[in-house]
Amino acid sequence: MSRQYDPYENVVAVMEEAMNIGGIDKRMFEIIKNPQRETKVYLPVEMDDGSVKVFEGYRVQHSNIRGPFKGGIRYHKNVSLNEVKALATWMSLKCAVANIPFGGAKGGIKVDPAALSRRELCALTRRYTYAIEPIIGADTDIPAPDVNTNAQIMTWVLDTYSQLKGKPCPGVVTGKPLELGGSKGRPSATGRGVVISTKLLLAEDGKALEGTKVAIQGCGNVGGNTARIFGHRGAVVVAISDVSGGIYKETGLDADKVTAYVEAGGLLADYQEDGVTHISNTDILTCDCDVLVPAALENQITKEVAEKLKCSYIVEGANGPTAADADPILAERGIKLVPDIFANSGGVIVSYFEWVQNIQEMTWEKPQVNEMLETIMTKAFGEIVEESKKSHCTLRMAAYIIALKRLIHTEEIKGIFP
Ligand code: GLU
Repeated sequence: MSRQYDPYENVVAVMEEAMNIGGIDKRMFEIIKNPQRETKVYLPVEMDDGSVKVFEGYRVQHSNIRGPFKGGIRYHKNVSLNEVKALATWMSLKCAVANIPFGGAKGGIKVDPAALSRRELCALTRRYTYAIEPIIGADTDIPAPDVNTNAQIMTWVLDTYSQLKGKPCPGVVTGKPLELGGSKGRPSATGRGVVISTKLLLAEDGKALEGTKVAIQGCGNVGGNTARIFGHRGAVVVAISDVSGGIYKETGLDADKVTAYVEAGGLLADYQEDGVTHISNTDILTCDCDVLVPAALENQITKEVAEKLKCSYIVEGANGPTAADADPILAERGIKLVPDIFANSGGVIVSYFEWVQNIQEMTWEKPQVNEMLETIMTKAFGEIVEESKKSHCTLRMAAYIIALKRLIHTEEIKGIFP
């Protein structure tokens, strides 16, 4: 039996391998291996039935050497300290690959948000914000949406923080609604970045998006927007899944129709359409397609799954969807992969644009946002491909080498305080 998967051990193992392949001096690596601060908070909420529940919340601040801590807040029943630590580390690496002036952090609450009423969810979010208020701020640590959190939840974070400070503080959080200082293009940014990554990867092999068969695991903000944008760009979305299961249609699904159905509260297990077959959430990974986009949770592409994949390319919309020991199997099988720390960086890149607009008190138009996103990602992808050629390694290793070199270089020029 394989050992219990631990996302933090996973990211440390991948970083160690990249340090070796890249021949990077390890003196400062001890610092990068550990987060700067871990905060755990207990959050009492009076439930609608009058009972009192106490939820566990976290904020892990991995690194702020390249800029303020930055990263989302996740609501999920399986959230744990080690998961949040891994997610915070990935944020530092992600911002370094994109070369934006942010560090990395992540927050989470161990809760199934679907089991809470709107009032309970609001109370929980406000209490969490109150608890972490001393360590967040527009120039210290800037939260954002992640799995099961959205613009509404960011509004409650923003309002609670602003009430405590006695003034509007739009720059404390990104992924806000437009009316409160959100950025045009932010809701779809991660999905747009996944499509840009796919386009860049296919172009390496002289291929185009048009007619490419794509399967997407997940239909939340990332999976849903990825599907829609793929559809608009002429790719054929053959399969998509949500928590209830997946659907497959060889000739291609109407991504706008399917995502509108999910957004309206429908479950894909109940979705009916001629030519649609129902498949499980794991079968979606091994279905017949050219490009697989895991856009849900960690540890989906295990060693066992990697052996059975039928795709030629993987573009990681989720954080950490591939287990470290599955990577060599993918390489052996010639399956090319764009790693999470680049592929899903569209979200945090547009969060950066949102934050810049907030501190400059300006608003940008959507074409400008999308164009700048594409420029940053195209440059970073070129650097990753170049590094992979130089170090004879996978795109994941190349992205890690670039990120680690940038983080370690900053540690070196700064030195160790005191
Ligand atoms: N939660 C997203 C991520 O994992 C976005 C983070 C952000 O915008 O700060 O990259």
